[in-house]
Amino acid sequence: MELETQWFNDLSEYPLIIAGPCAAESEKQILETAAFLAETGKVAVFRAGLWKPRTRPGSFEGVGEKGLPWLIRAREETGLKMITEVASAEHVDQVLEAGIDMVWIGARTTANPFIVQELATRLSRESIPVFVKNPLHPDPSLWIGALERINRTGVKKLVAIHRGFYPFEQSDLRNIPKWELPIDLMIKCPGLPVICDPSHIAGQAGIVPGIAQKAMDLHMNGLMVEVHPDPDKAMSDAKQQLSYLAFDKFLEQLSVREEFAVNGEFLDLLSRYRSQIDSVDAQVWELLAQRMSFVDKIGGYKSEHNVAILQLERWAEVLRSRSAMADQLGLDKTFIKKLLDLIHQESIRIQSKN
Ligand code: PEP
Ligand code: MN
Repeated sequence: MELETQWFNDLSEYPLIIAGPCAAESEKQILETAAFLAETGKVAVFRAGLWKPRTRPGSFEGVGEKGLPWLIRAREETGLKMITEVASAEHVDQVLEAGIDMVWIGARTTANPFIVQELATRLSRESIPVFVKNPLHPDPSLWIGALERINRTGVKKLVAIHRGFYPFEQSDLRNIPKWELPIDLMIKCPGLPVICDPSHIAGQAGIVPGIAQKAMDLHMNGLMVEVHPDPDKAMSDAKQQLSYLAFDKFLEQLSVREEFAVNGEFLDLLSRYRSQIDSVDAQVWELLAQRMSFVDKIGGYKSEHNVAILQLERWAEVLRSRSAMADQLGLDKTFIKKLLDLIHQESIRIQSKN
């Protein structure tokens, strides 16, 4: 990708902090929140969604273009740069016309190459920075594909936003971070700034600081955090928005790492690979626990129906199909056989408790 990065370095000191409400609700809310955030001295960019993509129709879908002058006024009063989400060519036209500084493309949009192309073509008319959230499903090529598609139309000021992935497994988090994916992006696209949106990963205000810290520990380039003057009354994402007090505390506690002193590049890459391993291991354990809970259910069911625990035919089929899958993935046969035997033994032990 052909990128320009000077503008990003000029935007703020490390790390870039973007903050603001999930959605613009009123002019008063925008002006007051922007004034508070500017006052902290740590925030460079103010975020607010004008068009809100909601899962179900009927919920608050944003104030729309009516909010554009509110953002412009907030910029005049605070000096903060303004960013909002665009999801259609019409949004882009309105945002460019109003003179908004930057835009982001939401997780639901990134997944759709047709819309991304349409937005990219319109956005390339001006050289405003475009931030691209990861798609909802953990497909790294969709994310990179969207970035490349936009880049090819001539947009060189690009940033990726890591906002987590739809949770297929049970989790306290609203979206699973799968840190190995943004790290992979950082490794594959050197020079592309990658920031984290801990609010949409956490889904609950109390968890936001921990996720943000993790992003800083990986030396990601910045954070996008949702802040609302009265989170309980927020018209969208009420649970995850930080109050002013919580945001102050968050800024105070955030520990920002220096670039590694000795042999920085080596250590940086090493720690990124290790974080990828940590994240994948956490998912492997979660999936193993899920597997064993199904085993437990099946154990109860067999016992109710007086059926033997050990079903040789089924086991032969599991061995055969899993070995074939493992083979396709390039995993060592002996290792997989040992692992399957261990899993089988544990499954029998669990079922024997019923
Ligand atoms: C948002 O930032 O408010 C938003 C809708 O995010 P996402 O596209 O990540 O769900
Ligand atoms: Mn939100």
